[in-house]
Amino acid sequence: MFKLIFIPLIYVSFYASSQKQTENIIIITTDGFRWQEVFKGMDSALANNSRFNEGDSSYLFSTYWGNNEIERRKKIMPFLWSTIEQKGQIFGNRAFGSRVDVSNPYWFSYPGYSEIFTGFADTAINSNEYPPNPNTTVLEYLNKQKKLKGKIAAFGAWDAFDRILNEGRSGIRVVSAFEPAGGTSPTANERMINKLLKDSYKPWHKEECFDVFTHHAAMEWLKTRKPKILYIAYGETDEWAHSGFYRSYLEAAKQVDKWIKEIWDFVQQDPQYRNKTTIFITTDHGRGDVNKDEWTSHNNKIQDAHEIWFAVMGPDTPVRGELKSDMQLYQKQFAQTIAKLMGYTFKASHPIADEILYIFKMKK
Ligand SMILES: [Zn+2]
Repeated sequence: MFKLIFIPLIYVSFYASSQKQTENIIIITTDGFRWQEVFKGMDSALANNSRFNEGDSSYLFSTYWGNNEIERRKKIMPFLWSTIEQKGQIFGNRAFGSRVDVSNPYWFSYPGYSEIFTGFADTAINSNEYPPNPNTTVLEYLNKQKKLKGKIAAFGAWDAFDRILNEGRSGIRVVSAFEPAGGTSPTANERMINKLLKDSYKPWHKEECFDVFTHHAAMEWLKTRKPKILYIAYGETDEWAHSGFYRSYLEAAKQVDKWIKEIWDFVQQDPQYRNKTTIFITTDHGRGDVNKDEWTSHNNKIQDAHEIWFAVMGPDTPVRGELKSDMQLYQKQFAQTIAKLMGYTFKASHPIADEILYIFKMKK
């Protein structure tokens, strides 16, 4: 009897007393980028396949091939597999039983992003054209907290983020697709970004811009407006995959890794952010793999497209590197994890899954 109450009490008091050092959080997603490439690097079957290699297999092999998976994955994501591996945690390598999955039944974007930010899988959200999110996102919740109000911004290459994050109701600044950066008082850099954005090639019409514009608009906001919470949603990994362009898919992922390094380098030399910022990186869904043609696609008819991954690094996250033990984690746990890192408990009128305890100091 004594033992039964004693253990939870210690646990609770340790948790309550562990003051969070995270004062800022930067959340990054790269749409539909598979755990297979994150952990195993380039797939030689796809690089050899003339339907997918864009006539460039020699470039693919000279750029991304290596003697083993460890070498190969580092060629796509050198920052993830150096700094983040050495200072943070990387989840989702199913070869070691580290399983991360979406819990929504659809395995595509709007349901995935909604699950990330609302903390639950709302089965009514069954389309990428779904209207403004009726549920509360953790960003909207945090924007109601005194210390964070007006200090949250989101930049997304895809125009659906206005609806996913319910920009109208939440009051969060959401800059998506071809919306100009900088609002009513753009900096000189933002004016230039906006000009280039307007004149750029638009392979996905008005729905989605190239990631380069989203990245630099977000970067300028980070440097000049100093948000406490910043979300950046890159989209090219998914677009190139749908087109069957394996070279472009890998190049987009490599560029995202490079941008994450740029963000982290800035964070670690700026007094507001240095050693007080957590970075959280993930994706909205997986893609096919078993049938080699299915890597281009994802939905609930594509086997394994529910499989995802995530990485985290920051002052409250002990170094664990690549997680190599048996576990089952879900995308719906990210919202409460984000809130807890910021020192809050996310509450809403819908269910919210518990935070991921692995990433905090108090529990292995
Ligand atoms: Zn897609």
